[in-house]
Amino acid sequence: MTSGSDLLSQLNPNQAEAADHFRGPALVIAGAGSGKTRTLIYRIAHLIQHYGVDPGQILAVTFTNKAAAEMRERASHLIQGADRLWISTFHSAGVRILRAYGEYIGLRRGFVIYDDDDQLDVLKEVMGTVPGIGPDTNPRVLRSILDRAKSNLLSPGELERQAERYISGVPKEAAAEVYRRYEARKKAQNAIDFGDLITETVRLFQEVPGVLERVQDRAVFIHVDEYQDTNKAQYELTRLLASRDRNLLVVGDPDQSIYKFRGADIQNILDFQKDYPDARVYRLEHNYRSSARVLGLANQLIENNTERLEKTLKPVKEDGHPVMFHRANDHRGEGDFVAEWVTRLHHEGRKFSEIAILYRTNAQSRVIEESLRRGSIPAKIVGGVGFYDRREIRDILSYARLSINPSDDVALRRIIGRPKRGIGDTALAKLAEWAQINRTSLLAACAHGEEILDRGGSKPVEFARLMQAFAEAADVYSPGGFLRYAIESSGYVDLLRQEGQEGAVRLENLEELVNAAEEWSQEHEGGTIQDFLDDAALLSSVDDMRAKQENKNVPEDSVTLMTLHNAKGLEFPAVFIVGAEEGLLPSKNSLVEPGGIEEERRLFYVGITRAMERLFLTAAQNRMQYGKTNSSEDSRFLEEIQGGFDTVDQYGQAQEYRQKTWRDYRPTVPARPTAPSAVKNTSPLTGELAYRGGEQVTHPKFGAGQVLAVAGVGDRQEVTVHFASAGTKKLLVKFASLSRA
Ligand code: ATP
Ligand code: MG
Repeated sequence: MTSGSDLLSQLNPNQAEAADHFRGPALVIAGAGSGKTRTLIYRIAHLIQHYGVDPGQILAVTFTNKAAAEMRERASHLIQGADRLWISTFHSAGVRILRAYGEYIGLRRGFVIYDDDDQLDVLKEVMGTVPGIGPDTNPRVLRSILDRAKSNLLSPGELERQAERYISGVPKEAAAEVYRRYEARKKAQNAIDFGDLITETVRLFQEVPGVLERVQDRAVFIHVDEYQDTNKAQYELTRLLASRDRNLLVVGDPDQSIYKFRGADIQNILDFQKDYPDARVYRLEHNYRSSARVLGLANQLIENNTERLEKTLKPVKEDGHPVMFHRANDHRGEGDFVAEWVTRLHHEGRKFSEIAILYRTNAQSRVIEESLRRGSIPAKIVGGVGFYDRREIRDILSYARLSINPSDDVALRRIIGRPKRGIGDTALAKLAEWAQINRTSLLAACAHGEEILDRGGSKPVEFARLMQAFAEAADVYSPGGFLRYAIESSGYVDLLRQEGQEGAVRLENLEELVNAAEEWSQEHEGGTIQDFLDDAALLSSVDDMRAKQENKNVPEDSVTLMTLHNAKGLEFPAVFIVGAEEGLLPSKNSLVEPGGIEEERRLFYVGITRAMERLFLTAAQNRMQYGKTNSSEDSRFLEEIQGGFDTVDQYGQAQEYRQKTWRDYRPTVPARPTAPSAVKNTSPLTGELAYRGGEQVTHPKFGAGQVLAVAGVGDRQEVTVHFASAGTKKLLVKFASLSRA
């Protein structure tokens, strides 16, 4: 443990001043990598050690569970009693409060949390019954309308009173009606969705002041990290919590606000001083994370935003390596460039885990992954379709959900036919009708199967009995034990056995789920299956528990692949940002939205500022999207940061940068000029004789050509060659019988 006076000496004077803030509202507003999160953690430690605050009165809200876990870990090194700190995301805080006090606003015990897919299931059910919603309406559009409404604390009535007639193309009256029916359906099933975790907590605080006060006793000192990305509902939750003691310290950077599409409102941080006129404002002006070159680039970029609060951010580090930009011939060439450089960095002594590859959309990861695989580079993907989204995992978790909440019709519909139990669609429709008339659940209807159905009524009764046994088991077993029981007793194993090889893989995943639950139990003593389900529902893409299961066969030391959004708050010694092209970054959608470009520029800024030492930017001149190869233009952001980076070829040889626009593209891909090179004709990695970009070659069938790109080494070396007669080909050197011209 560090002694009190030592603590603040590990901060610079501005940081120390902020960390020494005691009572009243405070705003720490500062650029990326300036130590906002660090200051927040030290402030918590200092409150305890210097001001004698009880750790049990401190709340810190972070953006992800992973960030919360890291904060807890770091705090535990600084002080004693850190395990009593309440460090959590907004959503986890909501679950905890609603589990404890939800009954005051009509939530019954054992309520479940619907994830995105469950939401869609319910929406699909209700949308058909609402006039004004055509069959071609995408339920995802409705889902995002509802999510937005909740982020903005709008009830169905308020949504309807909005100014515009249409919301995302849906008549507002219809949208509001879907919203109403969706809420009713959800309530009947004793479920809440993600948005509700915040809005219901707000409602609880507003309607039951006694509860608010109880929670306030537990949150006398409140901290919020990444405040620039709070939405209206989170803002209101924070405001209510802080309304009594007013010890609220928020930290953030308006230049890193990147969640507007989910309702985040940059105004929350800009208005902080209006909301709290007595707020102390602290500014941190030194960046400890990035090399001076990387920081210079970031600053140069963000100055192009017009709506912005001027800030100073000076580097602490030296210039460091030049930032590199490479424009590959196509998306595969881009992937190969990244793989080549990852290998180089690794040879120079970097761990793979110190390297991150960031992209705008998950779809970009596939090609990069393939290149990394060819280069035998271990990689883990954060986000995307992951472990907890797999069919078998969702099925078994649905069994668990129904066991603790018999009203969960969504879960029941999911599993009643897995495995088949002789209950067909017609029977299910009848049971559902009966349930609706009798205002009860589908499971209750199953129990009355013999009265409701003319034939086969015993089947649903059997199912109801099975679920009764599950409910009892849920009470007595540990989470892992219960899941194992559910997998075996549901007949699910037999179902998978019939699916051959694929079934075997799914079964392994289920094994992994049991392991995950058992590991979880070790960290959460006395935790129930319900708690486990809550945690599983709240896992965000960057969370460790999720990443661990999703990458179970990936070694610890691997490169991280993730979206720019997911990289927020993190840092890596080496960062690649791929796809710096118009239509990708900035994204196509952002071009038509007001403020869209500025938001994308902030996203690029977030990406750049993740890099500590090395930064690589790449683009592809031709990219396959939706099955079609299109030529693409460099991102406009590259032009804005011109001069801040070196343009290089495959091997890092400098080239002159010239912005590529659509005018530069011709139907066929022209061979690029040979880069004058002093480097010998050997691979920089292995010393083996190898082909190089620009070299003239001949092929027995295609004739003369020029090497455009090279990837891999040794037996795996692959060259992209442009042949005058046959166009561009990708060839494995080992088999291609190429010779130098
Ligand atoms: P972001 O805006 O990306 O969330 P941040 O402002 O929260 O960044 P931190 O993550 O807290 O910044 O700090 C960035 C890096 O700089 C971390 O590695 C942190 O440990 C280091 N750092 C910050 N302040 C200091 C300091 N005074 N001395 C040494 N290292 C520091
Ligand atoms: Mg931070």
